[in-house]
Amino acid sequence: MNPWIGKAVFLVGMVVCVAIRLPHDKRSKGIKVAESRKGALEKTLLGLMAITGGIFPLMFMLSPLLSFADYPLRALPFWCGVACLGLSLWLFHRAHADLGTNWSNSLELRENHRLVTSGIYRSVRHPMYTAIFVYALAQALLLANWVAGPGCLVVFTLMFGSRLHAEERMMFEKFGQQYEDYVVRTKRLIPGVW
Ligand code: SAH
Repeated sequence: MNPWIGKAVFLVGMVVCVAIRLPHDKRSKGIKVAESRKGALEKTLLGLMAITGGIFPLMFMLSPLLSFADYPLRALPFWCGVACLGLSLWLFHRAHADLGTNWSNSLELRENHRLVTSGIYRSVRHPMYTAIFVYALAQALLLANWVAGPGCLVVFTLMFGSRLHAEERMMFEKFGQQYEDYVVRTKRLIPGVW
């Protein structure tokens, strides 16, 4: 397949992803951060996410700089990538809509932070991270390049590993028994599985 088909589909996905996040980003900036646990590792990983999720894909799409790592795009990964992209964007939208002003792009608690346990948060505690995993998988499948494709998946796996327990500890310290009960009746990423 022409690699431009994968690039074009992923570019549309990137635009939709930014369009979903932008209004939430703007709105949450107006609400004071009551507590931040954003350490040096978190800042580094957020920077690497911007590079592997934004700069590398754009370099691959708009310049020949990463062409040394190109490989041919095949139909099966392409169609799996399209399906993953669609699923991830729907999940990303739902998670933002349900979290509302409690959303942060890092380990932070907002003023009057409320524990969300309904909507898509009814069965999983980290649907936004599920969405980002599936989105990064779509990127790996649609961008036929060993640097621009899987980079974000690698970095997000590290970020998820470093965040999961810290975030759950922070939520437990804030919401106590209410969060403990929520943990008991939910899974982390995949409903009914894990
Ligand atoms: N881990 C969640 C949220 C990601 S956004 C997910 O993947 O869907 C990260 C911020 O969301 C955290 O800093 C925390 O303040 C907030 N958060 C996480 N779970 C929450 C919940 N159930 N209710 C309210 N805020 C939550």
